[in-house]
Amino acid sequence: MGKLVIHNIGLLLSGKMEQPILDADCIRCEDGKIVQIGKAADVDRAGADTVIDAMGVTLAPGLIDSHIHPVIGDYTPRQQQLSWIDSTLNGGVTTLISAGEVHLPGRPKDIVGLKALAIASQRWYDNFRPSGVKVHAGAPVIEHGLEEHDFKEMADAGVKLLGEVGLGTVKDGPTAKKMVDWARKYGMQSTIHTGGPSIPGSGLIDADVVLEAGTDVVGHINGGHSALPDDQIVCICESCQAGLEIVHNGNERAALLTLNTARELKQLERVILGTDGPAGSGVQPLGILRMIAMLSSLGNVPAEIAFCFGTGNTARQRELDTGLIEVGYCADFVLMDQAQHAPGKTILESVQLGNLPGVGMTIIDGVVTSRRSRNTPPAGAIPLIEGE
Ligand SMILES: [Zn+2]
Repeated sequence: MGKLVIHNIGLLLSGKMEQPILDADCIRCEDGKIVQIGKAADVDRAGADTVIDAMGVTLAPGLIDSHIHPVIGDYTPRQQQLSWIDSTLNGGVTTLISAGEVHLPGRPKDIVGLKALAIASQRWYDNFRPSGVKVHAGAPVIEHGLEEHDFKEMADAGVKLLGEVGLGTVKDGPTAKKMVDWARKYGMQSTIHTGGPSIPGSGLIDADVVLEAGTDVVGHINGGHSALPDDQIVCICESCQAGLEIVHNGNERAALLTLNTARELKQLERVILGTDGPAGSGVQPLGILRMIAMLSSLGNVPAEIAFCFGTGNTARQRELDTGLIEVGYCADFVLMDQAQHAPGKTILESVQLGNLPGVGMTIIDGVVTSRRSRNTPPAGAIPLIEGE
């Protein structure tokens, strides 16, 4: 990985709600980690292995999708689609978090089988990153019959997540709470399916079950796809401190209700973004960018804050070492510019008018993983690797 310097950054988005724009134009990274952020004159560039001229474009932390359903490698059987993760990287996303490997044909629901699947899923994405993208997977769906020692066994084997509570046989609050508490005791993060059934075979999870289960994240609070009634969404926002996850594969009006409720509560830092792809509605390579533009434009959120929903907020909620421009964090970046011929005087104004930016480059652990996006509208300017 070596030493990477990125200079001539036109706008530096930090991922931090408290200071979304940094007064700096240069970043130095060593062995995949950020080591210095500052003005070019102050940053040590000597002996860099790679120097990138950002050409004045915007640099943000690589986007994080808090809610996906992977199966294996870069293939999803849900819509018989190959390379969906590579397409997602072209949408600026560098980290994906599984909410359960539920699309596996013949998914085991017996206890030994579901534990084996969780451990295997964690391993195969830990061992293999499709197109360089970090996939946090191995998210078991809880079923009746799991006991405390099963959670300890999975945690000891490296499983760090629970899949969406409610996608298995456990759909009642008391059992969900018991198992979520066991998961938490052994260091596993939890999420829950919120709203009506997503596809035939899944079920309703209402506000009472969400609140009783007490997961770390309220998964797709805007439904996946059918949302809960408005009063239940507001009640969830007001009655707990969990992450409020808004997904592309949900109800957009309910997304705006969640956003507005979080803003009234002065708790916008709880808002995190996912796609819920692959899903019945397909895969969404630009899903996180589309959510940022939608919430910024229709929800009247400054674009630099909306980018925090898909980066730093998720990083903090999920305790990741990526998603913030901060010394010690992973050198995971998306470089983007205002899309060609998109309205707005700046990239931020353009996004706040509802337009997507153009992605020009992604970097993961200090290594360039993609160049001009094949999926976004074309960026005005594109970063250059010096010496190429
Ligand atoms: Zn769901």
